[in-house]
Amino acid sequence: MSLTELPREPESLSLLLGPAVLDMAVLDSLVPDFPASDVDDLRSRVHGPVFAAGDDGLSAEVATWNVAITHTPALAVGATCAADVSAAVSWAVAHRLGVAVQATGHGPVRNAAGSLMVTTRRMQGVFIDPEARTARVEAGVKWHRVMAAAAEFGLAGMCGSSSDVGVVGYTLGGGLGSLGRKHGFAADHVLAVELVTADGRLRRVTADSEPELFWAVRGGKGNFGIVTALEIELLPLTTLYAGGLFFAGVDAAAVLHAYRRWAPSLPEDVTTSVAILRMPPMDELPPPLRGQTVVHLRYAYSGIDEADAERFIAPMRTAAPVLLGFVGPLRTDEMDAIHMDPVDPVPAWEKGMLLADLTAEAVDALLDAAGPQVEVPLIMVEVRQLGGALARQPQEPNAVAGRGAPWMVFVLGPGVPELAQVVPAVGRGVLAALQRWSMPGCLLNHLGDVSGPEEVAAAYPRATVERLRAVKRAVDPAGVFTFGHAF
Ligand SMILES: Cc1cc2nc3c(=O)[nH]c(=O)nc-3n(C[C@H](O)[C@H](O)[C@H](O)COP(=O)(O)OP(=O)(O)OC[C@H]3O[C@@H](n4cnc5c(N)ncnc54)[C@H](O)[C@@H]3O)c2cc1C
Repeated sequence: MSLTELPREPESLSLLLGPAVLDMAVLDSLVPDFPASDVDDLRSRVHGPVFAAGDDGLSAEVATWNVAITHTPALAVGATCAADVSAAVSWAVAHRLGVAVQATGHGPVRNAAGSLMVTTRRMQGVFIDPEARTARVEAGVKWHRVMAAAAEFGLAGMCGSSSDVGVVGYTLGGGLGSLGRKHGFAADHVLAVELVTADGRLRRVTADSEPELFWAVRGGKGNFGIVTALEIELLPLTTLYAGGLFFAGVDAAAVLHAYRRWAPSLPEDVTTSVAILRMPPMDELPPPLRGQTVVHLRYAYSGIDEADAERFIAPMRTAAPVLLGFVGPLRTDEMDAIHMDPVDPVPAWEKGMLLADLTAEAVDALLDAAGPQVEVPLIMVEVRQLGGALARQPQEPNAVAGRGAPWMVFVLGPGVPELAQVVPAVGRGVLAALQRWSMPGCLLNHLGDVSGPEEVAAAYPRATVERLRAVKRAVDPAGVFTFGHAF
């Protein structure tokens, strides 16, 4: 079926595209007002596949990892190279379509309905320069490929809790990982950004070539264009002393209070977090965890002395009986074992907040709101300790949100239609219970559900937003890129 043959009646269109398009405003934006011959013209300009509404393969092309959000763009271009991205952006601008981008679908912000969505998963180049200790990473690459390739040279990147996440999306939003307190955000280790802007131009953006755009794009996420590749610094690191310990839910108070006393005493070599997890009753899980509410301590020491690493973790090993877990030598390409995030797609609703302090009263408030004794439809309530290098601007300052906060809290629940009213209310309720200890701002990658641009803007200090908006006006005056974290 060609674009011009698409039915305009909502009923028949929803049969074609699924229930997510029943909203009339969405429907209006979905019905393209360009002739099918123009789509053929786009096809002739790119090497990768082009999918239009109604084409087989469109929904698979734009499928998300976080399946709580379904994308229904007017068109998708499966980019294979920077030239494809450039051609797709120019075509979209000429046809007055907004442009969205997706690599892995781990972090959709809202349905990119009616857009031209560029998917980058075919852009898989990873080039390691062991002498310079750098990597050039193309837009579709997930962290596990970089970690594996870098490990061959005794190097590591600034991966987060899951190496299934895309390098580019994660890094543009800051990128908080298990090396964070020692080495800062992933965005602090970016040397160059290859970026297609709304004028269709591919720019190599560095501190020297375009300092203001370089400042903005490292933290300002997808607002300035589509990144086709990043050049990043790697660290000379092969192993950590790291892992996770599980405690029974009944010991949540003992563990969380021990954690809040312990974590501030740690050097910057150590990055930690602690989470209350409500585990599903899945057969794959070991019996102590299956269907249970448990507390998971995550620990990563990246210093040089294993004896120190063990000495630092020791107080938490005795905070309560350990159900199971492992903290010991861990290769940098095995870092997923620290957080043990899910790999298969899930429907997730999430929301984060910064904390100025994690006092005994704050821990009590968290336990009252989300402890194991409370029936809440949340999968995870996590506290991560920040500070250290995460609090300091790197040598080339950037726009990363949330810098300077000592703690953050993050709640995650099932993003399923049956609980669409309940989960956000409960999740926001847990954060509200901690409001007294909160501070302004949020890590962009942990902002979660947003009501609109003002909530995104509030993640940054006021002066940062004004500066980001000035850069946005200069490089994207028509607002072509607004489907991500638009401010
Ligand atoms: C299981 C899991 C674990 C996570 N752990 C961490 C963590 O430890 N630390 C942390 O900081 N974050 C973490 N995150 C959040 C994650 O970093 C963000 O969701 C990030 O946006 C994912 O990027 P992606 O490309 O994989 O996802 P996608 O959904 O493909 O992209 C998300 C957004 O990133 C931007 N983007 C992606 N590619 C490009 C591009 N080429 N050019 C411009 N913009 C682009 C766009 O705004 C896009 O909407 C985690 C998320 C999940 C689901």
